[in-house]
Amino acid sequence: MQKLERKSYRDAVFVQDFLTRCGSGTICAQCVSQKKRNESSNVVCLFKDCKGGTKSYCPHFHRCFICDAPHSCEKLCRLSRGNGEHCIALVDAIRPNFLLLDFDRTLASTKSGGSPLPKKTARSRIKEDYMHSIDSELKIAVFAQQAFGESHVVTRNSHKKEIEDFLRMHGLSDLAANVHVVPKKMAKGAFIRENFLASQDKNCIFVDDDIRELSNDPWLWSSKQVHRLLFVRAFL
Ligand SMILES: [Zn+2]
Ligand SMILES: [Zn+2]
Ligand SMILES: [Zn+2]
Repeated sequence: MQKLERKSYRDAVFVQDFLTRCGSGTICAQCVSQKKRNESSNVVCLFKDCKGGTKSYCPHFHRCFICDAPHSCEKLCRLSRGNGEHCIALVDAIRPNFLLLDFDRTLASTKSGGSPLPKKTARSRIKEDYMHSIDSELKIAVFAQQAFGESHVVTRNSHKKEIEDFLRMHGLSDLAANVHVVPKKMAKGAFIRENFLASQDKNCIFVDDDIRELSNDPWLWSSKQVHRLLFVRAFL
């Protein structure tokens, strides 16, 4: 299969080349890519340097969830991409038994397993206004979810105690009682299946900013019990 260079895709020369071959009148780069997609039977992304695998590609609409963002295929892939507002809409539409939230760069502004609380050293106390933030819309989603079922944090950040304190500080004491640290070598998908969806009649919305967590586990992407949201956080 012919793969596209990201550069040539936007390149006028490429479009010209296409025009010459198909002999059509006027066509823009977007139409070229649309035409290529419609004609393709691809199951992977058109771009050579795409970091996503086959499971971040929607075969129904020929769209990559990463490169062609924003793309959502809520009915067939059960994967969409969006922010906290989108999460609230999903909760209202799906009314899941479980709302499962990643922590770092999703519910909170932390990254790479760092503590959400300021370090208790003399130096950082000086700039004590420094504090990680919570995504206010995901927080609303957690409250909305109370009407339908439970919310849980499913994270690889090992600062369990600090995360619990952080959530309590933000008025989410119920959620603070539901913080799970996924073991290092375990896929989040396997963890979710074992801990939440062992029963076939339960379902969940799983929100994570990392496409790998959302797509690596075969059960996770194939199960009709799971709706996945690739989270895009608006950092303030
Ligand atoms: Zn056009
Ligand atoms: Zn799809
Ligand atoms: Zn891609």
